[in-house]
Amino acid sequence: MNYDKKTIRDIDVSGKKILLRCDFNVPHDKATGVIHDDTRIVSTLPTIRYLLDHNAAVILLSHMGRPHGEWKKELSLFSARDHLEELLEMPVPLTEDVLGPDTKAKCAALQPGQVVLVENLRFRLEEEKNDPEFAKELASLADIFVFDAFGAAHRAHASTEGVSHYLPSVAGLLVEKELEFMGKALDDPKRPLVAILGGSKVSDKIGVINNLLQKADTILIGGGMAYTFQAALGRDIGTSLLDANHVGYAKDMIAKAQEMGVKLLLPQDNLAAKEFSADAEPILVDATDFPHDLMGMDIGPKTIEDFTGAIAGAGTVIWNGPMGVFEFPAFANGTNAVAKAMSDQKDAVTIVGGGDSSSAVEKSGFADKLSHISTGGGASLEFLEGLVLPGIACLADKD
Ligand code: ADP
Ligand code: MG
Repeated sequence: MNYDKKTIRDIDVSGKKILLRCDFNVPHDKATGVIHDDTRIVSTLPTIRYLLDHNAAVILLSHMGRPHGEWKKELSLFSARDHLEELLEMPVPLTEDVLGPDTKAKCAALQPGQVVLVENLRFRLEEEKNDPEFAKELASLADIFVFDAFGAAHRAHASTEGVSHYLPSVAGLLVEKELEFMGKALDDPKRPLVAILGGSKVSDKIGVINNLLQKADTILIGGGMAYTFQAALGRDIGTSLLDANHVGYAKDMIAKAQEMGVKLLLPQDNLAAKEFSADAEPILVDATDFPHDLMGMDIGPKTIEDFTGAIAGAGTVIWNGPMGVFEFPAFANGTNAVAKAMSDQKDAVTIVGGGDSSSAVEKSGFADKLSHISTGGGASLEFLEGLVLPGIACLADKD
């Protein structure tokens, strides 16, 4: 996939109506609408401000949750609207329908320097179906399509891909930044490239390893992901997380890494516990001698040394998935040590993807010392997997 996409900086937006696809799908309280984490809204502000400063009229589009074509009050974008009004310090009218008479009237009346937010697109079934008529009608509201919803880039929906068939389509500034870091890290990285994988969504993630073997110099596997690999080596893993369907795959990946000369490091030791609990006593175990009644909760001190040593020599580090159950302080050492080691690499490009990994890094206090924290969980993963992201592929290439 070509990552060198035209952006709003490459075109003239003055006096134009812009359809700007954002990702305002923020975690929020369903009853009160209170937003728990506004990162996704804040990260799109530079694009909105750029467009307004350059005399464009901005029609904001987003989805929220999974209403499956039904009008659900708790999935309205009203709380995102309220928050945007505070951040932008201007009125942000929210349409009363999705592409009905109110949307059309508000968009038709929109002047340069003004914004309007269209209500949750997934209130219409046609959005997720990528219905061409719906996409065409959406496109008819504006002159240009700008895609800035990196978190939704792996979906081919009407507002992420469909509209691009009917309008000139370019990237927003958030997507530009994501492509610059993620694209470059995988296509033309400063070497050595060290990839770190962990977390608990093992079956979702394990497939990235095949692609990473083609790109990375070193792969570190910790967190819940590691035990499937430890099992593939024939080791006991007690009651630890296991993706039983992928033990064979893990075996193949270990063999392939050896063939290709890619260093694949697995935990030598683990912090384990009798039960999955914040109060559980951490028990240090050797990875080759894992007690049958314990569960692996974190990487151990020898592994931390191995992993931070590999990071210390890196030119680029990409990390997805915590090294342990970092929500419990007794099992957060591995995750924090990796975050610190990355932040110590001042001359390296350091990237974090994944929702829980990002919050772990924020919690560790090292977030602002890293090069880039990706806003797209699923999208950043598909990037690592080497898949084509429909929301990106449909944008115009740079000349
Ligand atoms: P991300 O959201 O960054 O993509 P995941 O959702 O895959 O990451 O995984 C995050 C979760 O993995 C965290 O909640 C963490 O507690 C859990 N986790 C990490 N290591 C283990 C482990 N050894 N056993 C069980 N869960 C783990
Ligand atoms: Mg997660």
